Amino acid sequence: MSAYETAEYYFDQSARLMGLSDNMQRLLLTPEREVKVQVAIEMDNGEIATYIGFRTQHDQARGPYKGGLRYHHEVDQDEVLALATLMTWKTSVVNIPFGGAKGGIQVNEKKLSPGELERLTRRFVDAIHDVIGPDKDIPAPDMGTNAQVMAWIMNQYQKFHGFNPACVTGKPTELHGAEGRDEATGRGVGLMMMQLMAKQKIDPKLQTVAIQGFGNVGSYLARYLYDQQVKVIAVSDAYGGVVSYEGLNIPKLWEYAQQNGSIAGYPESEPLDNKSLLAIDADFLVPAALGGVLKVDNMKDVRAKYIIEAANNPTTPEADRYFESKGIIVMPDILVNAGGVTVSYFEWVQNQQYFKWELDRTRREMDRIMTESFEKIWEIATQKKISLRLAAYFLGIGRVGKATVLGGI
Ligand code: NAD
Repeated sequence: MSAYETAEYYFDQSARLMGLSDNMQRLLLTPEREVKVQVAIEMDNGEIATYIGFRTQHDQARGPYKGGLRYHHEVDQDEVLALATLMTWKTSVVNIPFGGAKGGIQVNEKKLSPGELERLTRRFVDAIHDVIGPDKDIPAPDMGTNAQVMAWIMNQYQKFHGFNPACVTGKPTELHGAEGRDEATGRGVGLMMMQLMAKQKIDPKLQTVAIQGFGNVGSYLARYLYDQQVKVIAVSDAYGGVVSYEGLNIPKLWEYAQQNGSIAGYPESEPLDNKSLLAIDADFLVPAALGGVLKVDNMKDVRAKYIIEAANNPTTPEADRYFESKGIIVMPDILVNAGGVTVSYFEWVQNQQYFKWELDRTRREMDRIMTESFEKIWEIATQKKISLRLAAYFLGIGRVGKATVLGGI
């Protein structure tokens, strides 16, 4: 099943439950605009390299399109569309005034020099600057992109349209970025886990966690859990994994990863491959890297009681149905990782108002929004006796549907 078929499957399930007409389903699911562009750059050795870039704008019934920009060799139009639809439901779940979009360039970004990465980003903005902007579509970081890439996007966009830092979020704090945007997604995931533990009446200090991915999301999540005294026993990244059943010392692991570019080989642990990480005997399993990682091939190996979808689209429908049949609770991506877009919203607000918030305020407001969304979804799931995923879609699609009807076409 492709990434988009997965997203469509979850939409269909909820739409049926909500009794949405076929016409309404088609209207809500059809993307409003899909852009595909050539991005040609000169490499450091003088050769020309040509890449393909995408920006898909799914829905803007509730506000300007909003969504990340991914640099990865597996990016394609199907995946970008799937992720754009997820953004529409996600911004709606946390009730911030945005629609949904996503973008990406099919490139192995790790093989590019900083200069090549900058030229790639600037050429991509040259190709799409007319369809993005603070009131149109606001990109943000995702896999393979970071604050530096966002700074280049802002700078290049401004060459065409003049000063306007709200055209992109996730910028460096020295250049109109919001305090706390870096940590926001991982911190939000951690907060959702703490809320779930409270509902399940389990002691956080007695829980064990395995995390796939130690990038922006995985590393800040690990740090948050460590501070809450939750034991992170296993972590992996693209180069390998590590395990320590006594609990990993996350600040030390963080430092090691900074110095070595990976967690692989961290001394105070045993090595672990990615396949074994997903099957490890931990209470919580957190995919925080790629989509589609929990699937038919490995679903029966999973031993965790809770799956927390920090990554976008990590669970295929077959695996989702299997986990539900086994009583494994899955917290869905469109709630779990919404902390990032929530703080992106705060950054956009601050840029529009030329007024900077303190970190404390960002954390307080994000915690409030995420907690309220969690409580609403929990209530819907309990009342309707449905999974947390269906409840989140129910809330998200419902709000977009209402806005669409109110606005008219
Ligand atoms: P990132 O590029 O900072 O980090 C990705 C991590 O995944 C890296 O540690 C990388 O080594 C690891 N990885 C890559 N391939 C792997 C593999 N095959 N096995 C194990 N690990 C692998 O990306 P990120 O921003 O942390 O995003 C991670 C996930 O979270 C993505 O699905 C993204 O869409 C989602 N997400 C990110 C944000 C955000 O604010 N950054 C917000 C919402 C959702």
